Order: sequence, then structure tokens, then C-alpha cells
Amino acid sequence: MHSGKKVKLTLTPAPDHTGVVFRRVDLNYFPIKADIKYASRLSYATNLSRNGVSIATTEHLLGTLIGLGIDNVFVDIDAEEVPIMDGSASAFVYLINEAGVRHGDAEKKVLNVLKPVHFAVGDRRVSVYPAENYKITYSIEFDHAVVGSQTKTIGIDTASIFENEISGARTFGFLKDVEMLRKNGLALGGSLDNAIVIDTDRVLNSHLRFKDEFVRHKILDVMGDMGLLGYSIRGHVVAHRAGHEIHAGLAKKIRESQAAFEIVPLSALVKHADARNAMEEAAELSSQY
Ligand SMILES: [Zn+2]
Repeated sequence: MHSGKKVKLTLTPAPDHTGVVFRRVDLNYFPIKADIKYASRLSYATNLSRNGVSIATTEHLLGTLIGLGIDNVFVDIDAEEVPIMDGSASAFVYLINEAGVRHGDAEKKVLNVLKPVHFAVGDRRVSVYPAENYKITYSIEFDHAVVGSQTKTIGIDTASIFENEISGARTFGFLKDVEMLRKNGLALGGSLDNAIVIDTDRVLNSHLRFKDEFVRHKILDVMGDMGLLGYSIRGHVVAHRAGHEIHAGLAKKIRESQAAFEIVPLSALVKHADARNAMEEAAELSSQY
């Protein structure tokens, strides 16, 4: 998208407890873990940097890995930027499903939110609250006839919800910004094939995939950025007019707020939920007599 270069990307199985690790094939497999501590240059995409080596535009692939429940993988790439594909996560989903996923021996762990955490810059903000599943509410507000205000809440309970509702939503940009981006050496590979491009009063692409494709794409973005915490989240992420910098701000704040979360086996949470449901049922029964 931004560099305009052709890229070869390979997802390679990784042992349990590896997490998501990018490896720059062209730099002797230099590894950079997908971790919030390496997040840098966040204006138009989420980039990772370690010791002067970078991986750019990580968010859609990371969102896909979270959406499909993949915890351990090497992302081998022979250039600096993850390919944009069609601007959505569809191609990543398709290829991962074609390849298949191997279940590791280790128990799946998740980041369970215990207390609310907030991050804001002006009226651009994002928070996370305790919840029983991974839920996202996103709202956008553009002073633009085509995009306008859109809000969506979705529970990412299964891979198929992610696949059907979120993965197909494409990135978007305004035609008036394209010239500025190109002057700054960005969006050099951008076209109607890999982004929704919006002019003053219309979308230049032939059609939208969802009426609210814009806000759905923002949900993909925030899933990818929160993926830099290294675990799928059990919590409700609520974002308003946010972007990569704001998402990363929240992820950093969560990491620093030790009392706000716990890393627990998914099975423990399921047991808690079952126990809670059983108690609620018992309470309901006893209240009937
Ligand atoms: Zn995006």
C-alpha cells in the first residue's frame, strides 16, 4: 500500500508460546514480536520497529490472527510492509483457511479485563471494560456525506463472525488526502483495487461491500492493534473517532495497569461463566419458591 513494492509473505507454524513473530527474511530472519512495546509511526498504519528494523502496516493481518484464534505463528516477510491485498482481511482469511490450522498442546490463554481502562486525546477515545466475551463497539463521525456517522457493536465470539461480518471490510481514504500522502511517500501502491476511495460526494469504487463498511473496517483495525497485547481479549472495547495512535495508547495503558487485567487459560473463564450461570439459575429457581 504505502511503499508500492511487491512483497512475499509466508505464515509458518510456530511452537506453543511463540506468539506472533514477524521475521524479515531479507535481513537474515531478523525477528520482531508483534508486541505493543515495538509499536511506532502510527499515523496511517501500525508499524513495529526494533533495533532500526521495521515491519509496516501490521494491523489487518494481526486482526485476522486474533479473529481466527491463531496464537502462534511466524510471519516471514521479504520487505518492510505487510501487503495490503484488497484493503481488507479477506485474502488472509481465505489463505489461512486453505492451509488449515494446527492445534497446539498448550492451553489457550486470554487477557481477561478486570477493571475499565481509558485512553483519550481530545474527543478521540477508546476504553475497555470487563465483559464475558470479546466485544467491540466502534463509532465514527466524519463531516462527509458518504461516511457520516456510523456505530456498530459486535461480539467476536467465533471465527465465522469475524469472517462474515468484519474481515471483508476494506480500508478507506479520501481522494483529497491521496496527493498529500504521496508527497510524503505514502499510498504509493494505493488504488481502487485495495482501498475505498471517497471523493467529495461519492465513493469512486463501484460498490460498498456493507452499507457500514467504514465502521466495520475500523473494528478490524482496533482488533489488530489490540492484538499487540499478545492475547485475545475478554472485554468490551469501546472506541469513538479513534485511530491507530489512540488504539495503541490504550494497549500501552492496559499493559501498564497490572491490576486491570489477568492472563488466564480460556478454560478457566468458561468454568467461571458456567459456575456463574449455574448460580444464577439456582438463585432464580429459589426465588420462584
Ligand atoms: Zn485498516
